[in-house]
Amino acid sequence: MTIAANKVVSFHYTLNNAAGEVLESSREHAPMTYLHGSGHVIRGLEHALEGKGAGDTFQVVLQPADAYGEKKPANMQRISAKHVPNAKGLKPGQVIGLQSRQGPVQVTVVKVGRFNIDVDANHPLAGQVLTFDVEVTGVRDASAEEKSHGHVHGTGGVEH
Ligand code: ZN
Repeated sequence: MTIAANKVVSFHYTLNNAAGEVLESSREHAPMTYLHGSGHVIRGLEHALEGKGAGDTFQVVLQPADAYGEKKPANMQRISAKHVPNAKGLKPGQVIGLQSRQGPVQVTVVKVGRFNIDVDANHPLAGQVLTFDVEVTGVRDASAEEKSHGHVHGTGGVEH
């Protein structure tokens, strides 16, 4: 069975950045499971999985446009330290949660000044070239219910 729309796909992956550092791996956990065509995995990776089958291994290198996008300068922001809890204890590189007008956001601390904190609200992987080493571990047909919900049920999926 090959991967196409409305197949439930399980795969292991190791994600490396351009410097060859491992950023994430599914190997310590259960494989990632998703409904193909639902947009639940990043576009470039979903595209690379198309047509593959259980047992296939491959590597795909994704430019930012096919992964988490470019870093947007507008997402680099300077905020007043008095709006940030425990501002004085923050360190560059730390990821913190803030309230924005659009709701809660995760930001990376860039610089801690006396009165202001510079933060980056871009996705931590934005602007990066990413290499995925993938092993497809399973492909099955989605049930009618999974298709109508747009996600996987059971192991690795939504339990409800
Ligand atoms: Zn559901």
